[in-house]
Amino acid sequence: MRERYAVVGNPVAHSKSPQIHAEFARATGQDLEYGRIEAPLDGFERTVEEFRRQAGKGLNVTVPFKEAAFRYCRKASRRAQAAQVVNTLVFSASEVFGDTTDGIGLVADLTRNIGFDLSGKKLLLMGAGGAAQGVVQALLDAGVSRLLIVNRTVSRARSLAARHGVEACGYDELHGQSFDIVVNATSAGLADEAPSLPDSAFKPGTLAYDMVYGRDTPFLAQARSAGARALDGLGMLVEQAAESFFVWRGVRPDTRPILAGLRGGQTL
Ligand code: NAP
Repeated sequence: MRERYAVVGNPVAHSKSPQIHAEFARATGQDLEYGRIEAPLDGFERTVEEFRRQAGKGLNVTVPFKEAAFRYCRKASRRAQAAQVVNTLVFSASEVFGDTTDGIGLVADLTRNIGFDLSGKKLLLMGAGGAAQGVVQALLDAGVSRLLIVNRTVSRARSLAARHGVEACGYDELHGQSFDIVVNATSAGLADEAPSLPDSAFKPGTLAYDMVYGRDTPFLAQARSAGARALDGLGMLVEQAAESFFVWRGVRPDTRPILAGLRGGQTL
């Protein structure tokens, strides 16, 4: 029987993960199926239990269940323990293992695909939700010299920053500060909104990276008009998927053709 995987979230209809994993499976000769499951907002555990009863082998977890997935798993990787969020679940008869691949996915996209060396750079991270939590440790491991977390709800930024020994603030405290790279880990772009970031955050050569993908967000437009280089999160999506595929199957797919296909708007 083909082994079963899926992405679980709410909403999940827009997810490109089934398309990406089908292409990874084809390219690496792995016999698996990968679906999409919308769990009720109050029914994450129930939905996962049902998937396991049907012999499901693994799940990707997306908004808003990444913290619930961390609580659900019995063993977690070191990077998931640092992040306290899980986007990859692995099931065996007796065990549930959780991992988080967003951080390594972001760093792989920045360094390998975009050619941006993070070492010694001043980085501003916007947001303190599941996506931001998942990437802080990987960014620190990549050698940034400063990591400042800013969030609309400042208390969330402060508690995330305290866990990693970095700084946090509100948007109104950013005036006059500039950064080599600004990573937008908020969901503001999905609502065609932008966090209230002052233009002074950008200087010539700043990289502005929005984890939201497939649309030109107000943050990217602001960054471009302030002279920054603006990029979306499609590469991160593909790279975090490749790392999940490796966690499940022990095979690392080549991400370049898939990313090129998605960027070119081709059907994979
Ligand atoms: P989340 O847990 O719901 O957190 C949302 C964050 O956005 C919070 O920090 C929230 O601030 C902030 N926010 C929302 N609207 C805002 C606004 N109008 N102005 C300022 N801040 C705002 O969501 P998440 O899981 O962190 O995901 C965030 C985004 O990253 C999503 O759009 C998701 O699709 C994307 N993502 C992409 C990838 C990828 O591979 N490319 C991977 C993971 C996530 P408050 O705390 O004040 O509410």
